[in-house]
Amino acid sequence: MDANESLARLREGNSRFMQGKMKGKEAVKRRKELVAGQHPFATIISCSDSRVVPEYIFDADMGEIFIIRTAGNIVGRVSLGSVEYGCAHLHTPILVVLGHEGCGAVKATCECKGECKEGNIKHIVDEVKVAAGAKNYEINASIVENVACVMRKIRRESPIISRLEKDGKLKIMGAQYFLESGQVKFL
Ligand SMILES: [Zn+2]
Repeated sequence: MDANESLARLREGNSRFMQGKMKGKEAVKRRKELVAGQHPFATIISCSDSRVVPEYIFDADMGEIFIIRTAGNIVGRVSLGSVEYGCAHLHTPILVVLGHEGCGAVKATCECKGECKEGNIKHIVDEVKVAAGAKNYEINASIVENVACVMRKIRRESPIISRLEKDGKLKIMGAQYFLESGQVKFL
């Protein structure tokens, strides 16, 4: 499968989800088929937000999408390792950074203007404030900018991913999910 086919599958799955016409899932059969190995067709970085569930949003089954979820859909060294695994070892032709409307991590960063001292949450704010600060802590603009910042960070800090992209083996895309309509808009 190439990146265009992969993107088409994501779009079709999202369309089914928006309309509430998801495919039926045969969990037991599928589970058994997957014992031999996984061949996901997309790697997705999504928020941990419990309302933003990639398998639902893209009407995907087990074994179809390789997902990294962190609050604010940001990446650090460990999660970048997971991204590299999905793209370089499992050979997914597409990598999607999926931000979403009403993101609590971005909202919190905007509210505190990037000044957070709470436990390890401050590390999330430190990441998100790069984007939010550039947009004067306006939440909607910051959500979109945060996706762009994460994409830039991946290219900057992962030579493996940027090499795959330069060689035409990987397409990196940003997207935003809308809570009420269920729509994913690719940016
Ligand atoms: Zn979020």
